[in-house]
Amino acid sequence: MQDNLKPSFRAKQVYNWLYKKYATSYEDMKNLPKDLKESLQKDFPIEILKIIKIEKSEDGSIKYLFQLNDGPTVEAVLLLMKDKKKDENGNIIKSEKYTFCISTQVGCKVGCSFCLTAKGGFTRDLTAGEIVAQIVYLKKENMISENKSVNIVYMGMGEPLDNYDNMIQAIKIISQSDGLDINTRRQTISTSGISSKIEKLGQENLGVQLAISLHAVDDKLRSELIPMNKAYNIESIIQAVKNFPIDARKKVMFEYLVIKDKNDDIESANKLIKLLSGINAKVNLIYFNPYDGSPYQTPSRNNMIKFQKQLVDKGLLCTIRESKGLDISAACGQLKEKESLQNKTNKGK
Ligand code: SAH
Ligand code: SF4
Repeated sequence: MQDNLKPSFRAKQVYNWLYKKYATSYEDMKNLPKDLKESLQKDFPIEILKIIKIEKSEDGSIKYLFQLNDGPTVEAVLLLMKDKKKDENGNIIKSEKYTFCISTQVGCKVGCSFCLTAKGGFTRDLTAGEIVAQIVYLKKENMISENKSVNIVYMGMGEPLDNYDNMIQAIKIISQSDGLDINTRRQTISTSGISSKIEKLGQENLGVQLAISLHAVDDKLRSELIPMNKAYNIESIIQAVKNFPIDARKKVMFEYLVIKDKNDDIESANKLIKLLSGINAKVNLIYFNPYDGSPYQTPSRNNMIKFQKQLVDKGLLCTIRESKGLDISAACGQLKEKESLQNKTNKGK
């Protein structure tokens, strides 16, 4: 825009409207001349997400279902991490610590056997604009002021590293200091483990955080859970992580989905400790979140705690993920699935 517009400062004005004032149309950009607004709309249409459903959880998390211009839907979740207080009417007062869980694709190609997103197959990659627009929407909708820190986790629908170029472009836009200004250190890419792309991402040296969806300590089970493990096995992932540049104060997060009678035993915990030795790692244990017809079961709380204790006793940092937004089906892909089931039922009537 800067190269094309005269005077060139107009480009800066547009940028400011988009990423500081969260304008969603050129019409809103009060200090632009009318003819410029019209030509910009023609040459650089603003991608707007249409909001079609909002679900609020008891714990304050909010799930948003968006429709894209060509029809498909994706979701984003606002998670409130700390400082939850209730006012005298029992309403939750919003905390200062926000985490946005953002989608990167419509559906997913990876096909994990425990994941609802996988069941719907793959439709398309999100553009960089559509990734960024989710964040702009959540900031605007929740009136989150500029100076409040926000963490971004790319853990919504899709595999971020399977949409590599758009992902990188989005991260660059989101972290621009004269725009949304969300430091790359506050952005975490969660991946099911495409080792070659983890290596590539490391070489970009963007400063983003990495979360690996490990879920299993042996290749047999991991391939059952994540079919792509046949191409990128555990060893290749560990190697890629070891090559990844990590801020000395930060750790690589390993997500471990705990499934009853599959990987919730102490032997698996011990294997995990061995696997992660030499890596500045932290482990996040996730309860398997069941859905209608899901092939697995949630582990007992007792086994979760025993598993965690084993890791912590051996000096590994390990947390159990709080089930944020369970009542609004905030696990990967669940709101979208519910919506499409409802549509089917409605059509059937
Ligand atoms: N594709 C990326 C990011 C999106 S999935 C990835 O797989 O890492 C985000 C997280 O949700 C992953 O750790 C995934 O394993 C987890 N997840 C998917 N289905 C789940 C379920 N039914 N219960 C609990 N966690 C689930
Ligand atoms: Fe895709 Fe992640 Fe779901 Fe696996 S868990 S199917 S990689 S979104």
